[in-house]
Amino acid sequence: MAGSVLSALPRMDALLACPILAESGLPRPLQKAAAGRVLEQLRQALRAGEASVPELARLAEQVRRTAEALARPGLGRVVNATGVVLHTNLGRAPLSRRAAAAVAGAAAGYANLEYDLSTGGRGSRTARVEELLRALTGAEGAFAVNNNAAAVFLMLSVLAPGAGVAISRGELVEIGGSFRVPDVMARSGAKLVEVGTTNKTRLSDYEQALMSGQAQALLKVHPGNFKVVGFTQSVEVEQLAALAGRYHVPLLCDLGSGALGPGPWPRDYPTVEAWGAAADVVCFSGDKLLGGPQAGILVGKGEAVRRLKADPLARALRLDKLSLAALEATLLDWRDGVAVPVRAMLEVPLEQLRQRAEGLAARLSPLCSCRAVETTGEAGGGALPGEALPSWAVALEPAEELEAFLRGWSTPILGRLHRGKLLLDVRTLLPGEEEFILAALAAWKGEKA
Ligand SMILES: *Cc1c(COP(=O)(O)O)cnc(C)c1O
Repeated sequence: MAGSVLSALPRMDALLACPILAESGLPRPLQKAAAGRVLEQLRQALRAGEASVPELARLAEQVRRTAEALARPGLGRVVNATGVVLHTNLGRAPLSRRAAAAVAGAAAGYANLEYDLSTGGRGSRTARVEELLRALTGAEGAFAVNNNAAAVFLMLSVLAPGAGVAISRGELVEIGGSFRVPDVMARSGAKLVEVGTTNKTRLSDYEQALMSGQAQALLKVHPGNFKVVGFTQSVEVEQLAALAGRYHVPLLCDLGSGALGPGPWPRDYPTVEAWGAAADVVCFSGDKLLGGPQAGILVGKGEAVRRLKADPLARALRLDKLSLAALEATLLDWRDGVAVPVRAMLEVPLEQLRQRAEGLAARLSPLCSCRAVETTGEAGGGALPGEALPSWAVALEPAEELEAFLRGWSTPILGRLHRGKLLLDVRTLLPGEEEFILAALAAWKGEKA
């Protein structure tokens, strides 16, 4: 029985001769690999009695889609319709047009990475971003490394080697499952001196640690991805700076999300400028609220930053030319008052989101069951915790089927399943991304027909 069903399987040659494959322009080895995979799946399904042999043309179509999927690079563009602006699994910040162009320019050929065009001699790879960072933040010194975890590690290793470092118990955070402040501290050689309690830490708790000789440095961490509410107390960075000054110890700060100046964040949200003015060194991520590439940025007192730059560890943690090009361009956007995509997404008025969702719903409604609905997104990426972002989405049905189809689309479209609907939040759609959704749903409807 099984044998006779299997004999109905088309031969590989016959399959590859179908016009949809023969004329596809896809490389022959790729077509063969895809056909082999599709035939094997079908063979297994037939043996299990779970399928019948489809028409040759239908099978060829399946092979073409499989081959296209195999041809696609593993890492590539996706459409973020989740409403989470800084989605760590989706690469956090989308770059601005200027930053993307700068990356393309630096990647296409050689680059003056460490070459000074005005003198014809050797130049510094970070001089341009340092100058921009100093101008934007008012700090004496600035430097950039691979990511913020590396920046914290460098800061502690160089400025508090072997020292006891006092930190509030309310700030011993874990970020994204793999960055734990206590673990990074241990690796850097600094010794953790916990002060205060989870919800309350006073200046006297820090002072006690310094006075007793347990601590020789202070660390303040901005707990980016959670918020302690209710009966809480923490010590302002200015008070810590005064204390550090009295005891002649460094005050180091991990600001995490790194808000620059006033922006679409709460008025009392800590900024790089505010913490930078008080601390010896402040570090933050390049791809959170700054909206640039993955990077760890350090700003602070001139002498402290000079020591960081001169340490051999800085060489091991250095930024590559593509990230440097993107970071420089992102900082130029900030200097020129051009809102980078992350900032634009965070400050777009709700009314505009409603119009965009309704416009999209109107275009999609001939293709599937859909309507515009109010929803809630978030900043994500350890930024603005507890700040729900009211937003608008299109709600599609059938939810689970469409979720899987859109996720498998040539440019994958990622939304959120919520109460039996697939929500596509328009806040995180980049300009023009509606066209991807329209094309995908047209193909879905075509397949159903
Ligand atoms: C996000 C974050 C980090 C880690 O930054 P990466 O750039 O992802 O390495 C460290 N500390 C704090 C407080 C953060 O919010």
